[in-house]
Formats: sequence, C-alpha cells, structure tokens
Amino acid sequence: MRRRTVTGGGLALGLMAGVGGCEMRHRSALGALPSAPRNPAPRSFDLASGLRLHAIQTGWVAVKRPHRAFAGPDALALPAIALSASWTEWLPVRAWAIEHPEGVIVVDTGETARIVNDSDYAACNAASGWFYGSNLRFAVRPEDEVGPQLGLLGIDPARVLTVAMTHLHSDHMGGMGWFPEARFLVSAADAGGHPGALLCRIPDRARVEGVRHDGPARDAFAASHALTSDGAIVLVPTPGHTPGHQSVLVQANGRSWLIAGDAAFDLAQIEAGTQAGIVADRAAARDTLTALGRQRTEHGTVILPTHDDAALGRI
Ligand SMILES: [Zn+2]
Repeated sequence: MRRRTVTGGGLALGLMAGVGGCEMRHRSALGALPSAPRNPAPRSFDLASGLRLHAIQTGWVAVKRPHRAFAGPDALALPAIALSASWTEWLPVRAWAIEHPEGVIVVDTGETARIVNDSDYAACNAASGWFYGSNLRFAVRPEDEVGPQLGLLGIDPARVLTVAMTHLHSDHMGGMGWFPEARFLVSAADAGGHPGALLCRIPDRARVEGVRHDGPARDAFAASHALTSDGAIVLVPTPGHTPGHQSVLVQANGRSWLIAGDAAFDLAQIEAGTQAGIVADRAAARDTLTALGRQRTEHGTVILPTHDDAALGRI
C-alpha cells in the first residue's frame, strides 16, 4: 500500500516555508560550481558464473558540504545546509542491475532529467521541492536516465520484473516510470513515505510493495529478505538515512558486494563514523555505519554507495 500524501517530515517544513521562495529565486548566487563532467557509459562486472553486475550512472548531483558531513546538534543540521554556500564536487547518481539466472534485478532507478528541465517536478511536494531546488544541484540529460542506459546493455526495462529500492529520495526513484511491469520493493517502514520522499512523482500505476526483513541475520546485518531462491541476493536493513533504508547484499564464490544506497556517502565516512547532515534517525545511522564497517573488515564485502565516485574501482 502506498499513501499519496505529502510527507514533509524531517525536512522542517516551518523553516522552509520561511526561506524557500527567497532561496529559489537566488539559487544562482549560492556559490560557483563547475559544469558537470559527461555522464559515463554503464560498466559491467562478472561477479560469478551467471551473475553479472551493471553500474549505471544516471547523471550527477552536488550537495552542500554540511549535507555530506555534519558534526553539530541535530537541530542545526538543516539551517547549516540551507545557509552554506559551499558545494561538494559532482557526485555520481547510480542505479544498478544484477543479471541472475532467475532474471534481472534492478537496484534503484536513479534520477530523471525532469529534475533539471521541469521546475515543477519536485515542487509537487512543497517541503521536498524547496530542499531539492535550493540545496541540491543535478546534471541529468534524458539519455542519462536508467531506461536508455539499460538499452545500451541490451536489457529491456519493460521486461524487468523486480526493482529493489533502497529508499524513495528523488535520485533513487526518478526512473521508476521506465519499469511498467516491475514490482518496486521498498522496506515496509519506508513504503508509505519518509522525509524527503517524492511520493508525488511515483507513477500512478507503479506497484510498490512494502517488504519486511523477515529472514535470518546475514553477517553484520540483523535480518534479511531473499530476492533469489539460491540466497545469493538479499535485502538487508541499513536504517538511519531514512527510517527503513535498505541495501542489497550479493554473495557468490566467497566474495560479496553491498549496494548500499545512501547508507554512507563513501568509505571514508564509514571508517570515521562521520554522520551526514540529512539523517532521519541518528542512532540508527550510527549503528548502520558500524555494521557497514564490520561487513567490510570482517567479511571483505565491497561496499558500493550510490554517490561514491571511487566505488567501481573496488569491484
Ligand atoms: Zn537519499
């Protein structure tokens, strides 16, 4: 079940209502950012016999520096982001596809060019629209979207039946319209919405299913939910960034990879235990960073955050 109501949540609607219009009008004065690099072609990796991972970049995003890392009190995180004129470098916005003998599983759907070309796109949710418009910069062309890029790989998105969603922020759900036949597997905790979820842009016909992590513990993770009968691909809970954020763990031939969504920006954040500025549940986020670190050091898992430019070099 999916609610279509707007959820402003932790994005502090009151604050936004006060400054949103001004910020929107003056966004070009918020600090210089060089043009984004050209979006790279998809890259493919053979993980094991019959198991192939495709990394699909759907454009670039830049965030304010306090968004990536913020050490102050919770209540000051959003003001710090809003007032900052300092941007990160351009970060990749990735989706993934896993070819398995039981079919293709897509993980996240990346961003849509509409976030750049259509000023009303994110404004369908007043609170989120302000945040997306003033505190994030995107560079996405229509050909960068997940549908055309899957086509380059010889995968027809209209035939994909399973899409695992780490969560429902715009840069993860912007390509949902490319998958008319898919079930979208969102954690039960996030399926009805979470702070910053762009529910108003979920296609009307999309089949969103709330998934419970009702399977056994896997390594550093307290529970799991199998996506394939051989157990090679499972959802695991990685809450904090959103209340029900989930990741996809792939295990084969004694090796493993974790498609980690926004559970962390990069390995440095995991190693230092640095909190991001946009976090729905700080205690859960701290525990998740600890679990990611354990998974990496104790099980040798390759951690693959959505926005980590160095991630593909580790596969
Ligand atoms: Zn996110």
